[in-house]
Amino acid sequence: MVAGIGIGTGIQTLTLTVAKFGGTSVGTAEAIIRSTKIVLNNPQIKVVIVSATSGTTNALAELFDLLVNFQTNPKNPQSKILKLIQEIKEKHLKIIESIGIKETNAIKIIEEFEQKYSQTLPSIQTLTPTLTLKDRDFLLSFGERISAAIFTSTLQKLTKEQEHVQVQKQEKKVKHLSATKIVRTDENFGEANPDMLAIQELTKENLLPLLELNTTESTTVIVTEGFIASTSSGEITTLGRGGSDYSSALIIRGLYQHDPRFNLLEIWTDVDGISTTDPKLVKDARNIRELHLNEAAELAFFGAKVLHPLTLIPLADVDINVYVGNSFKEQNQKGTFIRKNIDPTPLVRALALRNSQTIITLSRVKKPTNYGFLAHVFSILTKYKISVDNVTTSEISTSFTFYDNPNITSDLIEELSKYANVKVEGNLSLVSLIGHKIVKIPDILSSVFKVMEGYHIRAVFMGASKNNISFLIAEEHGVEVINKLHASFLV
Ligand code: ASP
Ligand code: MG
Repeated sequence: MVAGIGIGTGIQTLTLTVAKFGGTSVGTAEAIIRSTKIVLNNPQIKVVIVSATSGTTNALAELFDLLVNFQTNPKNPQSKILKLIQEIKEKHLKIIESIGIKETNAIKIIEEFEQKYSQTLPSIQTLTPTLTLKDRDFLLSFGERISAAIFTSTLQKLTKEQEHVQVQKQEKKVKHLSATKIVRTDENFGEANPDMLAIQELTKENLLPLLELNTTESTTVIVTEGFIASTSSGEITTLGRGGSDYSSALIIRGLYQHDPRFNLLEIWTDVDGISTTDPKLVKDARNIRELHLNEAAELAFFGAKVLHPLTLIPLADVDINVYVGNSFKEQNQKGTFIRKNIDPTPLVRALALRNSQTIITLSRVKKPTNYGFLAHVFSILTKYKISVDNVTTSEISTSFTFYDNPNITSDLIEELSKYANVKVEGNLSLVSLIGHKIVKIPDILSSVFKVMEGYHIRAVFMGASKNNISFLIAEEHGVEVINKLHASFLV
């Protein structure tokens, strides 16, 4: 249990918690038992959201690619496909075996998976149309469906045994509810967009009644899947890779709408929280104890890999705090709190580095219509499904930066060239300094430039957000620069 944030326990509490466990936190039998203990020892946790076991979504995505290849090329052997199906099956059966939950529903789901993809394999080449993103989402959903069933059964087993429970020895009523009954999205398979209003409705209809929060001593815990959702016609969608964090934010937001005691989202992972910068790049990187929601959102977007970039969006306008902690060292309580009320002094809190950046500069506008130029440009970018990270603009030229985007094609450049001269530069890194009201620190730019002496800065982006100053440099200097900035602003 995370100390110091809960007020009381049980139903009188002012804090009810949704806890999300990532792939590594449910990756092995030991990890699952460790994670279930976190739930059993915290009476505030009412809803649990799990990822697929680590590596499983990758394996399922590989399986999908193999199936597509097999479908379009009859000469491809089936053996690789069958082997992968067996590996995915065995991995989970081993976990089930070592936890000792033979009755688990997970076995039925594993059988369904095996049957669907191996027994129908011979006929798959006669199927038309070919496999689509909709089929891919269905296939990927098995990862979370299996792990949620395993987690549910493990919780049910351990709550009966009680030996793992240190706090309030109470037996919990553990039930599973499919995320497809809570999280509603559009039909953009592969990376579906959630419908928050529908999620609120579904939370009220399907999830809240199960929690029995009106009874005085509810001990119910509901386990559900991250990442997966459904359309209004009941088809399975996914929220995009890494989307379980996003699921958990959507679900707690739905709950909060009806019961504002749901004000803490715990995200359990395999690192101690969010750090000042990527510890793989900078050896002095350290954990951040607390940061503002806006800072965390920028960090997630600009490169910190701990949270899915969209996670904090559903929480932007509500009073829900987030704790990111290490499920392997749950007792050390060294995680990161993401809150809205924190020390207001402007500061540099973290650094992020994003490689594979491209900048496109448009100059000498050819159709000086005075207005509508950017609208034209953006409509072209939209047509090519390109999302812009940063924009800097002056009277005579405009630059945009993009992240490693395969859609930046010669067709796109040609279309843009109708409106202006186009220059494309690649192999750049975006360095971002992130911190509460960082732009209000006196002389911040001159201190940054002092550290950056001798490096060519290709562009500076500042002002659109109070919490971020970013600049582009040659990719080859990225790691060096981030180390220098860390040494001068964060040690
Ligand atoms: N299992 C999914 C993935 O690996 C979702 C997640 O873990 O957040 O992308
Ligand atoms: Mg993740």
